[in-house]
Amino acid sequence: MTLTPADIARFWSHVDVRDPGECWPWTRARSGNGYGRFSAAHRLHTASRIAYELTHGPLGAAEARHTCDNPPCCNPAHLIAGSHAQNMADMAARERSPRRRLTGAQVTEIRARRSAGALIVTLAAEFGVTPSNVSQIVRRRTWKHLGEAA
Ligand SMILES: [Zn+2]
Repeated sequence: MTLTPADIARFWSHVDVRDPGECWPWTRARSGNGYGRFSAAHRLHTASRIAYELTHGPLGAAEARHTCDNPPCCNPAHLIAGSHAQNMADMAARERSPRRRLTGAQVTEIRARRSAGALIVTLAAEFGVTPSNVSQIVRRRTWKHLGEAA
């Protein structure tokens, strides 16, 4: 990967950088399986791979694997080096796993706990959903109909 400083600045400008514990979604084009697409140096790159390499160093033959199970995420803290086979297994597991249904009371509790400073990853583990689910709940991308408690 040979990116110029201008490419690198452009790359991060396309990432919605949030709190360190949250997912940082890629805001531009995505591939069919949800991974961010970044074009630079006449090549199309996977955004999460670039985020990994800019932070942790070259991946070589390995791939960036999401510990948060959220393909568009570019938070380097959520990325580890893995094999292509591991990424394929992650994808298959994601398709198999049923969406966990939360109750309205749980959603209200998640929002209140997050306002009080609870980490997204902690809430995700506790309520049995993914960090991106929690992030969407907190940002009211889901469960929009549920009114403010205050
Ligand atoms: Zn993430």
